Amino acid sequence: EAVAIERLARVAATAEALDQVAYLVGGAVRDLLLGETSSDLDVVVEGRGGEAGAAPALARAIAAEDATLRLECFEKYQTAALIWPDGFVLDLATARTEFYPRPGANPEVESASIRLDLYRRDFTINAMAVCLNGPRAWQLIDFFGGFVDLRERIVRVLHPNSFIEDPTRIFRAVRFALRLGFAIAPQTEAFIVRSVSGGLHDLYGGERLKTELGYLLAAPFWLEGLQLLDRLGALRCVHPDLRLTEALAAALVWLEGGYGAFAPLRATLPQLRLDRLLLAVGPQAAESLPLDGHARTRQRKVRAALLVLAKQTDWSAAALHRHLAGLGPEESLLLASAIGQTERRQSIADYLQRRREPPLVGGDDLKALGLKPGPDFRKILDDATTAQLAGKLVDREGALAWLQDRAQPGNRAY
Ligand code: ATP
Ligand code: MG
Repeated sequence: EAVAIERLARVAATAEALDQVAYLVGGAVRDLLLGETSSDLDVVVEGRGGEAGAAPALARAIAAEDATLRLECFEKYQTAALIWPDGFVLDLATARTEFYPRPGANPEVESASIRLDLYRRDFTINAMAVCLNGPRAWQLIDFFGGFVDLRERIVRVLHPNSFIEDPTRIFRAVRFALRLGFAIAPQTEAFIVRSVSGGLHDLYGGERLKTELGYLLAAPFWLEGLQLLDRLGALRCVHPDLRLTEALAAALVWLEGGYGAFAPLRATLPQLRLDRLLLAVGPQAAESLPLDGHARTRQRKVRAALLVLAKQTDWSAAALHRHLAGLGPEESLLLASAIGQTERRQSIADYLQRRREPPLVGGDDLKALGLKPGPDFRKILDDATTAQLAGKLVDREGALAWLQDRAQPGNRAY
């Protein structure tokens, strides 16, 4: 905290010397007023004559006085970043306004006043600034009622077209509301509902929307988040057919528990939740989802395995292994979560659990019996795996005996 203030004071002094005005803006101001610490600090700079290069110029001047700072300038975007040796990052941007040539498009920017810069932001609680230098130094700048909304714990957009201009704000509204324990203002909810009814789903292809959805799916309140999105009709942003049915919610929750046995995979849970959501979209529609190659392959594999299992009567581990041996643990969990009947889902979970147990016998044991690597060799090892999965091999002694018998020349002809 003290370090951040010392560094902001340096920004203020340098801005003053350059005849600029610098402001702390956005999340940092919100967090400051809430008494929380921010990980990233954003500074907006108003240049003397509204020049576009104000932020890079300020960053360069600060870096010139301190050789330990790393400087990154993005003249094209009118932004810069200063990075301290301890990892502290300060992002600087020239005060600007944004135009959306069409809904959801990348905005065009133009340097502007701090007021317009704040007006382009998502919510009132994120649209406050603290002036760092000049006559208004250390004053709170709050044009849109952010302070009152913060006190009343409300997430409110600044203008009716906000969600149409940038649908990622829908996900941000839900995320901030749940993270801070705030309510979304009724009118803001109405703006969300109105914007999604216009069919925004093709925007899912946008990387930013994916990123925002990813943040939500990684948060502890991911389920409440999806429920709220569904209530607002905003899962349509992902796909127009997508609804959070009770079965889908249950499957997602099961996925969480299913991981119990697969602790190392926990880090991929947010991705798996997304995969599971997409699996709920009909197969025809799914082909049109803008997925990367990896995700698409995974969807296809799991859908294909589901079709095979639909005709399956034998749900023993050995039988499942015949169909699912080619599926990785994540794909298998996805598949299991998509099986409606509890016992069958459990059969797959049991099979996966068994599959994780180390093999009781291996190639070295076969070599010790005098066999040479080749098709026979591999077939015998496959059979050993299946026998172990089926529960026929339970200890090493028995497994070795089984192997010895299986490797008899008479038992080897196919
Ligand atoms: P967090 O603590 O999650 O970082 P934050 O408010 O700092 O919260 P960021 O995503 O870091 O959120 O964005 C910084 C600021 O930029 C926001 O406070 C907001 O003013 C503005 N902003 C970010 N995304 C948008 C958006 N999609 N539309 C409008 N303004 C945005
Ligand atoms: Mg931030």
